[in-house]
Amino acid sequence: MGLFTKDIKTMNDLFVHQLQDIYYAEKQLTKALPKMAEKAADKELRQGFLKHLDETKMHVQRLEQVFQMHGAEIKAVTCPAIDGIIKEADETAGDVADKRVLDAALINAAQAAEHYEIARYGSLIAWAKQLGRNDCAAILQKTLDEEKATDQKLTALAEGKINLKAAS
Ligand code: FE
Ligand code: FE
Repeated sequence: MGLFTKDIKTMNDLFVHQLQDIYYAEKQLTKALPKMAEKAADKELRQGFLKHLDETKMHVQRLEQVFQMHGAEIKAVTCPAIDGIIKEADETAGDVADKRVLDAALINAAQAAEHYEIARYGSLIAWAKQLGRNDCAAILQKTLDEEKATDQKLTALAEGKINLKAAS
């Protein structure tokens, strides 16, 4: 976005801009997830992060596909929101001494990222449909379903054992 010009004029401009934003976010997450996996003490949590890393690489590819289908340049624009979520996760993780408490903190951080993605993909899908791009919406929906499933798995892990271990 320019400082003196308002570059986003139409809903289509907004759609493309938010695609660029989430494209940046997904790419940042492909760098953050291996580090989170490395920090996780619980084996299932670590594997969960690695599985979502694979899915996230696919999310990047799907976005590239949507850019191409929509005739837009494949481009990332800095997303300060995801940078903030990742930065806060790093800072909190650095402050946690106990590795079981750290697992609870890692889940918390990961869910912040998932909820961010869920919010953004929800709007992108609605806008794609409004713009007559049901084809793009269908691709984005696959990613949204994976984000939601990941969020639910993280909740199940936290409530199933990680929180219990962290509290004991
Ligand atoms: Fe994603
Ligand atoms: Fe995700």
